[in-house]
Amino acid sequence: RRSKGSAPELDPVRLAEWDHAHVWHPFTARDWWESREPLIIHAAEGVELIDLQGRRYLDGVSSLWCNVHGHRHPVIDQAIRDQLDRLAHSTLLGVTHPPAIELAKRLADLAPPGLTRVFFSDNGSTAVESAVKMAFQYWRNKPDPEPDRTLFMTLGDAYHGDTLGDVSLGGIELFHAAFGPLLFPTLRIPTPHPYRDPQRRSPDQVRDHCLGVAERLFQTHGPQVAAVVAEPLIQGAAGLLVHPPGFLKGLRDLCDHYGTLLICDEVAVGFGRTGTMFACEQEKVIPDFLCLAKGITAGYLPLAATLTHERIYNAFLGSPECPKTFYHGHTFSGNPLAAAAALASLRVFEEEKTLETLPPKIAHLRHRLERFARLPQVGDVRGVGLMAGIELVENVETRASFPPAWRIGARVCQRARDYGVLTRPLGDVLVIVPPLVVTIADLDRLFDALEAAWNDVREGRA
Ligand code: PLP
Repeated sequence: RRSKGSAPELDPVRLAEWDHAHVWHPFTARDWWESREPLIIHAAEGVELIDLQGRRYLDGVSSLWCNVHGHRHPVIDQAIRDQLDRLAHSTLLGVTHPPAIELAKRLADLAPPGLTRVFFSDNGSTAVESAVKMAFQYWRNKPDPEPDRTLFMTLGDAYHGDTLGDVSLGGIELFHAAFGPLLFPTLRIPTPHPYRDPQRRSPDQVRDHCLGVAERLFQTHGPQVAAVVAEPLIQGAAGLLVHPPGFLKGLRDLCDHYGTLLICDEVAVGFGRTGTMFACEQEKVIPDFLCLAKGITAGYLPLAATLTHERIYNAFLGSPECPKTFYHGHTFSGNPLAAAAALASLRVFEEEKTLETLPPKIAHLRHRLERFARLPQVGDVRGVGLMAGIELVENVETRASFPPAWRIGARVCQRARDYGVLTRPLGDVLVIVPPLVVTIADLDRLFDALEAAWNDVREGRA
């Protein structure tokens, strides 16, 4: 066992050089990254990440919104070790293995009623891509085919991942515009986000407006709509945009009325993030496809699942030569180590009654958000469960944003590191997505750091 920082390969200076020379970081602007010393995370414990020098940071974004029970949870660590002693990897193509079988059964039992078929893949993008391809093929496969259903209806500012299919569904200019010529067209519902509504309508009015647009799209294109795709309750990557109450239910009703399918992308919100196991439960909505990733292994290993019901699955019955088969999958789909981690995480949910511990934490987070909102140049605070955003603006009255070149959000988060908190902004929205095991004291540490960091940036100290 190496002691921290002693081996030559753990020399921070050399590692920083090699990182700058060889690692191409995702979603990271080169000029920004290469102009600073990288923060090298070397270890973790509970809700804290530890860098090479031994400094500790509260993991304010759950290592990209996936950590649930904290890092190095003994039950999950042990489950992975035990599985490693038996089998690290075998495929689900043509053979199967106990962790995937047991996990499929557990997920089917946990999910909203009727979602009994589980298709495994290995990340959030592939969970959604699988649902899109299944929905598309379903309309061709079913006994009375409807091959004209080729269109997907999605939300403004949508983010569903980075495969070309997911990017086609996506609506974030900055991320998606570069790939325009490669993408398939979609029908777009306006973003149901009251704070940025040009007419400043109430949440209920914004909901009715957006559902009204969706209804008109259905009136024109109804028989061509293969599925509606939405993140339930809150659009994460778009900037933690909270939907008006009833929006998801309204979408479900429209899908039913016009006879199409609903794909709920719960990659970010599944597994307790919004206060319930799955976000769609809060509006009593049962989607036709439920896409899960991130928190499925409590953030330990890559795994994803796309759940659907028997009507969809039955449309894929046929012999191997028959084009009805779903010819789609990945080498590491349903990997045994990841499935074992996911099963252990679900055990921890039960044993630690994780969901039952959430209401006071959610209330405290809400309280701290409201306190933050009293600081200058805070335009909006919003969130669902333990997933929140703070939007900083140049002018609170007009809601005008800061010039992007000022990188206000990035500067605040950079400063928060000096106060021992690690977060990653979305533009000028500060993102708060801590592991579900945070304590009230951890939340105070997180918000105290962000408040101090914002004051420092505003007053020119950072
Ligand atoms: N869908 C949503 C709602 C997400 O937030 C993300 C990632 O942030 C994805 C899909 C893509 O997941 P992954 O990064 O695992 O491919």
